[in-house]
Amino acid sequence: MAAYVFGHKNPDSDTVCGAIALANLKTKIGEEAVAVTQGEINPETAFILEKFGVAAPEVMTSVAGKDVYLVDHSDLAQSMDDVADAEIKGIVDHHKLGDVTTSQPLECWIWPVGCTCTVLKSMYNYFNVEITKDIAGLMLCAILSDTVIFKSATCTDADKAACEDLKAIAGVDDMMELGMDMFKVKSAVDGTPARELVLRDYKDFDMNGKKVGIGQLEVVDLSILDGVKADLAKDIAALKEEGGRHSVFLLLTDIIKEGSEMLVASDDESVVEKAFGSAVKDGKVYLDGVMSRKKQVVPNFEKAFA
Ligand code: MG
Ligand code: MG
Ligand code: MG
Repeated sequence: MAAYVFGHKNPDSDTVCGAIALANLKTKIGEEAVAVTQGEINPETAFILEKFGVAAPEVMTSVAGKDVYLVDHSDLAQSMDDVADAEIKGIVDHHKLGDVTTSQPLECWIWPVGCTCTVLKSMYNYFNVEITKDIAGLMLCAILSDTVIFKSATCTDADKAACEDLKAIAGVDDMMELGMDMFKVKSAVDGTPARELVLRDYKDFDMNGKKVGIGQLEVVDLSILDGVKADLAKDIAALKEEGGRHSVFLLLTDIIKEGSEMLVASDDESVVEKAFGSAVKDGKVYLDGVMSRKKQVVPNFEKAFA
């Protein structure tokens, strides 16, 4: 029975490319594995797959009774709804340990680096498996995406070293240019419905018993979002009500200026001041230097909600 490999809901490039890379590695060491996703891939990931000639994984929404590997997450809220009824054979991730549990021993590779594909690069080395050109291209792009071209607070020397190796294998001359091309694709919002933009890179968290959603849009210039900001604000307010959430926050991140404007829909806006020391005005606040949800936003809110 083939094992299924998948990342988190609202798949991003690391989740998709990481699943493909792990399925490829497992298959090469004699354990048949298939990459799947929990939903449609985003435009940035489509650009990457097209560039390196790799097909998008099938969408799958149930894994009960299957053998599975999780990549890029270990939180139940971000996993398949019935993952508790699957056998988790392994986890490859770079987030804080989540709340999945297993009934059997598992293979666990969770490292404090900027991207799942950086961990995967070391796994290929460990198992002495050659990385093909197309898979190397995918892994390179995933690392450039997750680390915001090395600018994110989550980026480590291991991520940069992995990219140096992967760019050589993938035959990429200028990885900074490739990164910017990717972020330009990611920045395009024209004609996209507000809800789709809000959910494009969105995660729900349980913070001290309160349901809190945090989304993020990374763009090369915040002015790109001027025309849609009012709709985005309206939409996160609606999303908060629909899901019985305490708050929904949407980070609009300027990857060149290296800061985020955060749109706020909350039952209690004072949590933002508690978390960041700046008060919300007209439903938003600018957070200078904040680019990483994982390192600079989630921990602050977890403290503020505690
Ligand atoms: Mg991810
Ligand atoms: Mg990731
Ligand atoms: Mg990300």
